[in-house]
Amino acid sequence: MYYPFSRSGTLLKLAAYFTLCAIFGAYVGHIGWAIALGAMCLLVLSYRQLFRLNHWLWHSKKMTPPVSEGLWSYIYEGIYVMQRRDRRKRKELSKMVKRFREGSEALPDATVVLDEDGAIVWCNKLARFSLGLRFPQDFGRRIDNLIRHPKFLDYFHAREFDKPIEVQSPLNQDKILEYRFIPYGDKQLLLIARDVTKFVQLEQMRRDFVANVSHELRTPLTVISGYLEMAPDDGQLPASVQQKAFKEMSSQAKRMQTLIEELLVLSRIEANVDQQFDNVVDVPSMLQTIATEANTLNREKQHEITFSVDPQLKVYGLETELRSAFSNLIFNAVHYTPAPGKIEVRWQLEGEDAVFRVRDNGEGIAAKHLSRLTERFYRVDKARSRRTGGSGLGLAIVKHVLSHHNSQLMIDSEVNVGSEFWFILSSELVATVSPQTLKQG
Ligand code: ADP
Repeated sequence: MYYPFSRSGTLLKLAAYFTLCAIFGAYVGHIGWAIALGAMCLLVLSYRQLFRLNHWLWHSKKMTPPVSEGLWSYIYEGIYVMQRRDRRKRKELSKMVKRFREGSEALPDATVVLDEDGAIVWCNKLARFSLGLRFPQDFGRRIDNLIRHPKFLDYFHAREFDKPIEVQSPLNQDKILEYRFIPYGDKQLLLIARDVTKFVQLEQMRRDFVANVSHELRTPLTVISGYLEMAPDDGQLPASVQQKAFKEMSSQAKRMQTLIEELLVLSRIEANVDQQFDNVVDVPSMLQTIATEANTLNREKQHEITFSVDPQLKVYGLETELRSAFSNLIFNAVHYTPAPGKIEVRWQLEGEDAVFRVRDNGEGIAAKHLSRLTERFYRVDKARSRRTGGSGLGLAIVKHVLSHHNSQLMIDSEVNVGSEFWFILSSELVATVSPQTLKQG
């Protein structure tokens, strides 16, 4: 229990003490000596208490003060109360720091706390992982000595932190990080680094896409407007030129039409997130229709096209999307195989899965192109693809369709031997199987 210290009470006690000393001095005939002796005793007692206090403060591990009386008990009690208050505050502070650190650890971004000189005070786990910082080893080291990219250094030294900057990650050249400094408190800085690789790539893809579409549309338009400019004012061209001009203009217009149609198909497929495959797609009859179309395309080329189709093998899926995928692969084989070639189309069960394969004995595709074939507008031979009327979007469409059906396009190809484009639709999508195939299985 803490009793407030009373100054007058203490002074009264002191006065009573010295009065008693004086009375005693008068009794023995040495008042002065008696008072001096009394003062000496008080000094000794005070020093004793001072030593005890020193011992308690510096050497004892006990929180509670030694038992004492009088003025000293107030002093001990006061220090004890202050220590307890201080301890409680420290506990609260360390709890707050812990909560702040836990919060920063939970952030999806790398976070570094810096002092006004840019020296590291603290960093979260992600900062250690994505910026290569070590903590606590890097405590007190300046951030500009640890992240040395020139763009980052310029940004840091200019001290203009209104906008973030994008810089390659110090650990991985393929990653792009967005750095943002946030000044706070007493000239402290918070550095936030966020992985924006995907956004940068998407932005690049968007720019490429717009550039590619513009380029693809500009070429046929240039041809058409060229012929139109050639026409005299009365619109009458010599018969031979007129025939060629109309033929060329109509082929270029068709090319633009195909491109726009395929762009629409692609955007429809991309926008479609429907993965509910309740409808059974009759692939064998779909392949029959595509075979008729392929034969029409094949009139000039005279390829030998064979279809080996399991007549009962139907699947759950999205009919229009699958039609696009099957026809793109078959028509590509017809287009890109030099005449007279051999094309084999197979739609069969392999194990429990449905597998589609289109194999040709065309020129084949060099390995370096294979990983890029499904990119929009990627062509091995631009001129040839244009001649075939290709938009460069066919395989991109196939890729999206297959990803909707939890599958992916596989390409095996050898230059001067031929190519095989194939994919698997897993057993969960297989709807009906011919009894004959079941027996064989
Ligand atoms: P395109 O509309 O130009 O045909 P695709 O996306 O369908 O575009 O095909 C991309 C490229 O892949 C084609 O330009 C062609 O170079 C190559 N390719 C596709 N199928 C075959 C094949 N069967 N044989 C050889 N090359 C092919």
